Amino acid sequence: MKVAVLALQGAFIEHEQMLSRLGVSSFEIRQKKDLEQSFDGLIIPGGESTVQGKLLRELELFEPLRQRIEKGLPVFGTCAGLLLLAKKIENDERQHFATMDITAKRNAYGRQLGSFYTEAELKGIGRIPMTFIRAPFIASVSETAEVLATVDGKIVAARQDNQLVTSFHPELNEDLSVHRYFLKMAGL
Ligand code: GLN
Repeated sequence: MKVAVLALQGAFIEHEQMLSRLGVSSFEIRQKKDLEQSFDGLIIPGGESTVQGKLLRELELFEPLRQRIEKGLPVFGTCAGLLLLAKKIENDERQHFATMDITAKRNAYGRQLGSFYTEAELKGIGRIPMTFIRAPFIASVSETAEVLATVDGKIVAARQDNQLVTSFHPELNEDLSVHRYFLKMAGL
């Protein structure tokens, strides 16, 4: 059982460390030939969604990954990863994988004051630490997606079948529970 971590840009190493602490092997997707390995789940890290979206297309990773996600590959997107999975971004005309029926808002907390730490309840887990860095939030979810967490009335985590997204960065805290949740969701 292996989890692939998209490693084009952003906070991917932290995800790999979380997986290794949970005893799960992972490898990095950096170029097309990395897709020849088999994998049972994919993590899309935080960073800049525009940069990751551009690199995914330039490196011809975009369409093969989109198809796998659409076919049910379990995927976990944090922050920019959430934006890559969202069907719609309210304040950006760009669309990326667009496999998850949610509308996100980019840099939703403002560019300067957009980073903060809090603790809140995540459905099915309990109270967890949440670190936000120029984060998006989810403005709305369709009926097919389930809201997992809100902070100050804004949706910050959701799930739709095999797709899990958080607008915060669970990989930047010690708590392993969101990664554990993803692995369970992926049947790993
Ligand atoms: N602001 C970034 C974006 O729009 C996301 C920030 C993050 O991933 N920490 O892509």
